Amino acid sequence: MRFIRVFKKRILTIPDFIPYGRQQIDDSDIEAVVRVLRSNWLTTGPKVEMFENAIANFCGARYGVAVCNGTAALHCATHAAGYQPGDEVIVPAMTFAATANAVAYCGATPVFCDVLPDTLLIDPDEVERKITPKTKGVIAVDYAGQPCDYDRLKGICERHRISLIGDAAHSLGARYKGRHTGTLCDMTVFSFHPVKHITTGEGGMTMTDNPELATRMKRFRNHGITTEAKERSDEGRWFYEMTDLGMNYRISDFQCALGMSQLGRLPEWLKHRDALVKRYRQLADLLPGLNLLKAAKNCEPAWHLMIAFVSKPEMRNELFERLRKDGLGVNVHYIPVHLHPYYRRTFCTEPGLCPIAEEAYEKMITLPLHQGIGSADFLYIEQTLKKHAHLYC
Ligand SMILES: *Cc1c(COP(=O)(O)O)cnc(C)c1O
Repeated sequence: MRFIRVFKKRILTIPDFIPYGRQQIDDSDIEAVVRVLRSNWLTTGPKVEMFENAIANFCGARYGVAVCNGTAALHCATHAAGYQPGDEVIVPAMTFAATANAVAYCGATPVFCDVLPDTLLIDPDEVERKITPKTKGVIAVDYAGQPCDYDRLKGICERHRISLIGDAAHSLGARYKGRHTGTLCDMTVFSFHPVKHITTGEGGMTMTDNPELATRMKRFRNHGITTEAKERSDEGRWFYEMTDLGMNYRISDFQCALGMSQLGRLPEWLKHRDALVKRYRQLADLLPGLNLLKAAKNCEPAWHLMIAFVSKPEMRNELFERLRKDGLGVNVHYIPVHLHPYYRRTFCTEPGLCPIAEEAYEKMITLPLHQGIGSADFLYIEQTLKKHAHLYC
């Protein structure tokens, strides 16, 4: 639904609500899905492997294992890494809860690590300080679409002989020193939720160059069974063995067809997101009091979130409400994970554990950023932010 807003004597046609993130679906996406719906394989068919290969080729990884959502993809990775009760795995405090949950699913202990103040990416010095004899891995999060400092993280993990998992739910298409996310860690996870860069409705994938890890993840997504239905059907066999306790984390063929169709437009969408970030930076130059997340070194980001920090944290919630009332789908990413009641109760985490993440959380606000934001939309965002400047400047 679109309606007319009168603003500063200009008449702009803008959507009644501009969400912070949103999918874009066109006719070719719909046709790709419908073709699968008319075919023999709705799930565990040929499109799953085609999608895995398409993402693997795109980022330059050897294997992709597609599953029903990004959280399941993280669980496949933490399972394949072999985390167990008694193990510690270092995760950043500034992330979506799913990153830490994937450690807890294995019975292991997430150890929360603080982030760098400018980029909110995991702080490698802090990682090093948090390593103990029980540490078995690190999960780095490419917050907002910027790759972490993977040379340093990889160095630390190799020295301590522990695994490095990348939560790249925000950074499909980003590069670190010329290399794509998906190739920078032992395993890297993407999400295809509708707010992410490309969507399958729900979906996720874990990338790896290690054939053993890929096999372990494929088995885990399918109950811990050694072969998949299509292999048995192709080979005319019925026998199978369940060698481990797995899950049913499979993704359907029509979702994978949607993902492949979307992938073709990713480069264009990343450029659009980049251009919007540049316009936000120009706007922020005019608005002292509105500070944007800084660009990380050595990387070409795939911007997922536009994070702003207000100079008056005590006014953040009022600003949030005013902007929402004016139709901007602002949000807050994220409540530091260690502050959630589950983590406080189960792992005895407390406020003060990760002060930089906690301080950033108090003053952050996520502004709309997605491929569907056109010029009129951006003009409206600009006017609305200026209108409420007295709340943060
Ligand atoms: C979206 C997201 C996930 C989980 O992805 P789902 O597909 O929603 O399960 C994990 N980690 C981060 C950082 C995310 O943003």
